[in-house]
Amino acid sequence: MKVNIIGGGVSGLTAGIYLQMNGFETHIFEKHSLPGGLCTSWKKGEYTFDSCAHWILGSNTGSSFYKIWNEILDMKKIQFHNHEIRVEVGLKNNANKYGEKTFFLYTNLTRLEEYLIDLAPEDTKAIRAFIKPMRIMQKYDLPPILDDLPFLKSIVRGIKMMKYVEFVFLFLKIKNYTNYTYAKKFKNAFLRESFELLYDGEEVNMMVLTVPLAVFDKKSAGYPIGGSMAFAKKIEQTYTSLGGTMHYTTPVKKIITENGVAKGLLVRNNVAHYSDITLSAADWNYTVFDALDGKFINQEIIDLRDLKKLQIFYSVMQFSFGIAKDLAHFPHFFRIPLDEPLLSPDGTTYHRFEIHIYNYDSTLAPKGKTSVTVSFYTLEREFWIDARKHDRPRYRAAKTEFTKKIIDLLDKHLGGIKDSIEVIDVATPATFQRYTGNWKGSTQGWLPGKNLLAKSPINFYLPGLKNFYYSSHWNHAGGGLPIAIKTGRDVAKEICKANDIKFKTVRIH
Ligand SMILES: Cc1cc2nc3c(=O)[nH]c(=O)nc-3n(C[C@H](O)[C@H](O)[C@H](O)COP(=O)(O)OP(=O)(O)OC[C@H]3O[C@@H](n4cnc5c(N)ncnc54)[C@H](O)[C@@H]3O)c2cc1C
Repeated sequence: MKVNIIGGGVSGLTAGIYLQMNGFETHIFEKHSLPGGLCTSWKKGEYTFDSCAHWILGSNTGSSFYKIWNEILDMKKIQFHNHEIRVEVGLKNNANKYGEKTFFLYTNLTRLEEYLIDLAPEDTKAIRAFIKPMRIMQKYDLPPILDDLPFLKSIVRGIKMMKYVEFVFLFLKIKNYTNYTYAKKFKNAFLRESFELLYDGEEVNMMVLTVPLAVFDKKSAGYPIGGSMAFAKKIEQTYTSLGGTMHYTTPVKKIITENGVAKGLLVRNNVAHYSDITLSAADWNYTVFDALDGKFINQEIIDLRDLKKLQIFYSVMQFSFGIAKDLAHFPHFFRIPLDEPLLSPDGTTYHRFEIHIYNYDSTLAPKGKTSVTVSFYTLEREFWIDARKHDRPRYRAAKTEFTKKIIDLLDKHLGGIKDSIEVIDVATPATFQRYTGNWKGSTQGWLPGKNLLAKSPINFYLPGLKNFYYSSHWNHAGGGLPIAIKTGRDVAKEICKANDIKFKTVRIH
């Protein structure tokens, strides 16, 4: 049975791998010349700039994510770097008792707890209450929704499910807290300001902080040395080694349908590729409203398109610099408050800026040199997308104007690097949209709403269309690589089930 897959991002590759393992003949049609989609890095001169895999959930043994990763690539062959400090946050107003204005978010929970209590013994109770849920979370395979919860098929499995009851109670207890509401629990002004600034001044549900921290502590959210493209290529190698076929530089124009049945794909030069099953692992909006001309929709889909239910995840301005200096003495990731607000050409005002120094991955730059990125998340993506489309000189001028400001800031904060900058690369929301097709340059699909465990916004099917499936990070709000591999695996299982095939995995290493 033949399956055509649109998109060679992580979700499409994962689905392709499992379908190959289960006897399907699959073909992936990818518009780019490389695999990975948003999971990417690129080379410019002697430098490699990375854009995705800051942390891979499940990089260490012991979680179901590790099991999935290890089914699609040989995890033992990947060297993961685990940071001791997740981020260093510069404060504007308050210093701690040592006169320092920097907050260290340690990844080791014991160290973090000791650090916080040392700084604010008066908040010991609130600090312990912050750490304790993460210790409880660590008893579980996180996130719990991603386990194959089997709905009481056997007593053993039933007992396993019971285990999650404690987690659900914990979740219900803390689900409404945000970093802002939690900050208010602290008497210590330094801790209060630190918690408010953890997400660049944004108010974020505490689960977004605590679940990753619980995982970081277990050294299971590492960065893959070599970067995102090297990582994605390993998944692609598994796919082709199982007999899958990649069709690169082949954008899919339309999904061919006949009487409510998906029949194949129309690619460039109006070449048609027919198949028994079609799976789109490309952007959601493109799939539904462009490739299928909006013919297979319902009110729920219309509400999603009109952004009545969820918002689209941030897009990003990524400034990458190749600097001919050894910057090993700097922290790998820090956020600095700005003396003056920084106005982006897209109208967003920033009060802080984040610097990512890849001094922990020697494969990204020659010895003595360093790859550095500065990222600004934005919701004003239309500015960049429209300017690139309709007014290229304005687009270029806006990029140049913003880049100059960033270089000045970098020069100030990294101690005179201006003359050592050898390579500059600027990616805007228009770049992310152009290369991967993601709607409005979203970096992770939908922005999670307040209810983090809400029902998936998108499922694997479209109303009224047979032999068609959909999987990608758009399936679950929050997106990210874990969602991409989970949806890729699950959709393959769904296809097996619909075709009376008992889903199996094949050892690949
Ligand atoms: C700056 C940045 C930082 C990130 N950091 C992290 C992180 O630290 N951890 C984490 O887990 N996640 C991170 N993410 C998110 C993660 O990269 C994505 O959620 C994930 O890679 C999405 O995978 P996907 O396969 O669902 O979609 P995509 O990667 O979007 O794949 C879709 C594929 O379909 C192709 N395609 C689209 N249209 C067509 C067409 N018409 N014809 C043919 N092919 C088409 C695209 O080219 C692409 O290859 C980050 C993303 C960005 C941009």
